[in-house]
Amino acid sequence: MKKRSIRETDVTGMTVLVRVDFNVPMRNGTISDDSRIRAALPTLQMLGGIGAKVVICSHFGRPGGQVIEEMRLTMVRTRLSELLGAPVRDAGGPSGETPVQVASALSAGEFALLENLRFEPGEEANDAEFSNHLASLADIYVNDAFGAAHRAHASTVGVAEHLPAVAGLLMERELEILGKAMTEDASTSPVVAIVGGAKVADKIQVLWHLSEKVDTILIGGGMVAAFFVAKGHSGGAALVTDEDAAAANGLLESGRADAIIPVDVITAPDFSERSPATTCEQSSVPNNQLILDIGPATAKKYSEVISAAKTLIWNGPMGVFEWQAFAAGSEAVARAVAANKLATSVIGGGSTAEIVGSLGLVDQITHVSTGGGASLEFLEGKMLPGVAALDDAP
Ligand code: AMP
Repeated sequence: MKKRSIRETDVTGMTVLVRVDFNVPMRNGTISDDSRIRAALPTLQMLGGIGAKVVICSHFGRPGGQVIEEMRLTMVRTRLSELLGAPVRDAGGPSGETPVQVASALSAGEFALLENLRFEPGEEANDAEFSNHLASLADIYVNDAFGAAHRAHASTVGVAEHLPAVAGLLMERELEILGKAMTEDASTSPVVAIVGGAKVADKIQVLWHLSEKVDTILIGGGMVAAFFVAKGHSGGAALVTDEDAAAANGLLESGRADAIIPVDVITAPDFSERSPATTCEQSSVPNNQLILDIGPATAKKYSEVISAAKTLIWNGPMGVFEWQAFAAGSEAVARAVAANKLATSVIGGGSTAEIVGSLGLVDQITHVSTGGGASLEFLEGKMLPGVAALDDAP
């Protein structure tokens, strides 16, 4: 069911509570990547431009329901103000009287930011009283925090029970593009999903759901070992449980999508950056070696499949990309995805976004999702609670 969007809602003169995801990465006490703040700007600018009074709220880190000085949103507020080119008031709180006073004193087109929502235990508990408090700050609620939509918290679910609740522009775009990538039709096929990452257990639901929707799945990452064992080969020194191998086998035998596994891999004796790397064929991984990347023949083969796709969905690195010796597979895939100008390409997951970011390829991808966990749960076919809570489109 399509959700009501802020574009279809007249909020002129109203006080609007906007849930954003400003959980930005910090390094040495400064914001190392402000993409999440930038991603929320279209909604905030639109609201400011039409004279709404804008009360913004976000979580940051995991303070666990108490005030942690280093997790205050002070630096985020300064950066947001610079990017908006407008003052952003400190609304205090997130609970108590201060936010109520600040919100009611806002003039048309002004902005205020609440303190870190997770300083309040009621946030993660989706507490009714805290949800009510948030709702009391505004006339309407806008959720633009796709990255937090897989959490049922007071600011993503509870508050929506008390106010008209609509999707912000970023939320709308995320749902539209991810949704479209998962709906196979003549114009978007062949659909190729590329799935990597650490463990098969984390991704099997994703693989299973994708296999119903896509034509081809290219498999990489830590789960390659389970697929090799499922095929009757050695998975090397990695611990592959019977359950993992059965899950891998189930997918290969299901006859759903065409699941392609590596023809060669890069292995090393230890899980360490300087461990000597060797290329092995699919059928000859020594029992004392760990599979840490896809091999060059696989990278070539995957790149060819990627170049013929019309829709590309990529989640999870092909290998331990953080270490140079095991980064080539992920890099080749990133370059192939970026090079396919005819395809709609959608990337989800923090590590995958980091790879395309570090290679300077973000502009060549149709959509890099702001949601790590949220985009995964979306690909698993789950209804995200923060989306379910929004009003249905008229
Ligand atoms: P995920 O968050 O599930 O996408 O996993 C990302 C992590 O998977 C990265 O930190 C990678 O280093 C790791 N990873 C990718 N391939 C492998 C592999 N073959 N063995 C162990 N870890 C891997």
